[in-house]
Amino acid sequence: MKIMEHIKTKYLVVGAGVGGLAAGARLKERGETDFLIVDKCESLPVNLQNGVHYLHSNDFGTPFEFELKEITATEEIWDPRKDEFKKAANIPEMMDYSMKVMGLRHPSSIMDPSNRNWKTYIPMSNNMNDLLQGYHDYIGKEHFKWNKYLERVATREKCAEFSDCIIDYEKMISTAPLNKFGTIVDINLGSDYGELEFNHQALNITNYRTKNIVPNWLVGIYISDNRFPVYRITILNNIISMESLTKLTASDEHITKYHLDRYFDYELDTKQEYTWETGRIWGLTKDDRNVVVKLFEERDIFLLGRYGEWDGKRTIDTTVIKANQIIDSIAIIESNIKRTGWHHSDEWIKENLKYRDKNGRFIKREINKNI
Ligand SMILES: Cc1cc2nc3c(=O)[nH]c(=O)nc-3n(C[C@H](O)[C@H](O)[C@H](O)COP(=O)(O)OP(=O)(O)OC[C@H]3O[C@@H](n4cnc5c(N)ncnc54)[C@H](O)[C@@H]3O)c2cc1C
Repeated sequence: MKIMEHIKTKYLVVGAGVGGLAAGARLKERGETDFLIVDKCESLPVNLQNGVHYLHSNDFGTPFEFELKEITATEEIWDPRKDEFKKAANIPEMMDYSMKVMGLRHPSSIMDPSNRNWKTYIPMSNNMNDLLQGYHDYIGKEHFKWNKYLERVATREKCAEFSDCIIDYEKMISTAPLNKFGTIVDINLGSDYGELEFNHQALNITNYRTKNIVPNWLVGIYISDNRFPVYRITILNNIISMESLTKLTASDEHITKYHLDRYFDYELDTKQEYTWETGRIWGLTKDDRNVVVKLFEERDIFLLGRYGEWDGKRTIDTTVIKANQIIDSIAIIESNIKRTGWHHSDEWIKENLKYRDKNGRFIKREINKNI
């Protein structure tokens, strides 16, 4: 029989990506010492330096010194048939792009550079992984446990079973992908859960080294043409990065290079490939997501991040902001319990009851499959 280490912690954070790290940092900032961040990886998952990551705001604040610089962003839509670059997408282009990346007739995801009102930032060091490292160093290595895969959660007992240990917790913050997490918890989401569509598709990222690009200049190119497997090209810090839903074949690479060669210098033999397994996500409407998030909150599990919360719109900066809000709201809940003996505030309970019938069961709703 396998002997499992048994650990107790007040706050258990699942995942050491930017969401889990920001949650841990906020706990530390609030003076908490009894928390653990646990990840299935064997060390910090430094996964942000692949050419596709930049910050959409510099206003998320870190509790440690972290310098950012503003970079110039040029984003365009490319029509390879006409070999034409444009500053703004029209409706058909947006529809084509949506069909290509999401398989949905819904104008989403493509940016309209003409209406861009946000600025773009990267770390002063040019390396986005330094943000993760900065969080790690601020939090302190004693708060991390690596190589632990969360396999089961008994939410009433507040007990999380990992590959080689059991952790009893009081509150859990999870950034693990919700579609998987939903299957390892003992929360019965009822038949509603089966009808909720948690869809995701792995993204392939193909990077090449490129020369002769103005430093601190971000070039983003969106391609709606279905004959092109690449749907977005980002050029930043001497990396030209192509995102595609399928792995690029040699012929895809050559055709893309044939088109791009006249603008950017890069060699096919500098190629590096990554796969982002959870990559593109969609399927839950905002309402559905609220229901699921609240259901978990009732059991003191707080869902966080693009994958943890299943909110494909979340970016690094908004994930950090949400992590801070969650930790601050837990502090409010805890002070409410101390003050009133109630587990949750009256307002919280009222809001939550909206999603229940008189027997406390979840209310079944029509699912909008077009979002
Ligand atoms: C191609 C691409 C480009 C992007 N570009 C940008 C961009 O330019 N700017 C931007 O702001 N955002 C961008 N994003 C979004 C950004 O990457 C995410 O919002 C952010 O990385 C999510 O962080 P997270 O901590 O929520 O999740 P993750 O980074 O996925 O962290 C979750 C962690 O949980 C761990 N984990 C999962 N399951 C388990 C388990 N069962 N047991 C233990 N540990 C587990 C994983 O190992 C992982 O380390 C992009 C995303 C993609 C896919």
